[in-house]
Amino acid sequence: MDLVDRAPFHRSVTDHLNVLKSAAPRSRRPSVGAMNSKPLQALDTDVAWIHGSPPGHGRTDPSLQVQTLGPGTVLMRQSKDLTYEAPFLLLLLGRSRALLVDSGAVDGAVLRSTVDHLVASHLAERASGADAPYELVVAHSHAHGDHIAGDDAFRERPHTTVVGTTAPAVGAFFGILNWPSEIGQLELGGRTVDVIAIPGHEESSIAVYDRTTGLLHTGDTLYPGRIYVEDPPALSDSLERLVEFAGTHEVTRLLGAHVEMTTTAGRDYPLGCRYQPDEPSPFMPPHQLQEARDAFRTVAHRTGIHHFDNLIFCVGNGPRVIVPLYARGVMDRARQAARRRYRRPPR
Ligand SMILES: [Zn+2]
Repeated sequence: MDLVDRAPFHRSVTDHLNVLKSAAPRSRRPSVGAMNSKPLQALDTDVAWIHGSPPGHGRTDPSLQVQTLGPGTVLMRQSKDLTYEAPFLLLLLGRSRALLVDSGAVDGAVLRSTVDHLVASHLAERASGADAPYELVVAHSHAHGDHIAGDDAFRERPHTTVVGTTAPAVGAFFGILNWPSEIGQLELGGRTVDVIAIPGHEESSIAVYDRTTGLLHTGDTLYPGRIYVEDPPALSDSLERLVEFAGTHEVTRLLGAHVEMTTTAGRDYPLGCRYQPDEPSPFMPPHQLQEARDAFRTVAHRTGIHHFDNLIFCVGNGPRVIVPLYARGVMDRARQAARRRYRRPPR
């Protein structure tokens, strides 16, 4: 199996645990920390991720990197050798079921066998022998092709639900009757996740909050990269609701579904880039949520590409956004091709 579980650089996780202390009043709803008296489980998020193969060196990355962040919490990344999107896929394992957020940008055969292996290991480690079959829920941060392409590999899997990709289907599954203002839940067995509807990038977009670790998965709505905004008023409202949610829940980390920025503030890799040696982590400190909300307020009404330190908002999908993105991507690929062609042969 094509897996790699790279040893993370071990820093003290608690040193880096950046628990959100929002200025928002905490009195309206009890915090999850208060509802669950258990402390949040720490995650080791200091991971060296695969980031593509250097041009001219063939494929050097495995097709899927699998990283255990903590007990029952696994994050995977698909290789840039297979798809420039290189999405991150989250697997949360509870006592009675597991939740996979996104099935990726390519055929799901490798992902399916990996998830089967991870579920089997999780069950083998469980002390109690439960009678009911262990379930898998395959849900999606949103319905774009690079997040659902592996679905077919799970459709015939026993005890598995592949959640639909329309807003009504997502709402019905997670019990969100009043989309998008209501918050849904999914019980995984000793582990509850909250599901927040966040349309704007795409109408069925959701964020997933894991009460066990404080991780808030924000998909393509907030990640270190280009946030494509289909519906600006909807995204404004969604970011507002996320900030409000984070004000009443302990958020330890935000997690995006891709990385497209470099570690230089405001600078991204070109569209379609397959080698990103200087990329930041997909995990973001919680304060970036308020910053993104505030930044978006300043550009929500202006079609075009708007650069900020940690992300870029691409508002609308007209020529003002598409032409510069594609032109830069094409130029970058032409430059790479020329470099390969004219590279001096070794002496
Ligand atoms: Zn998307």
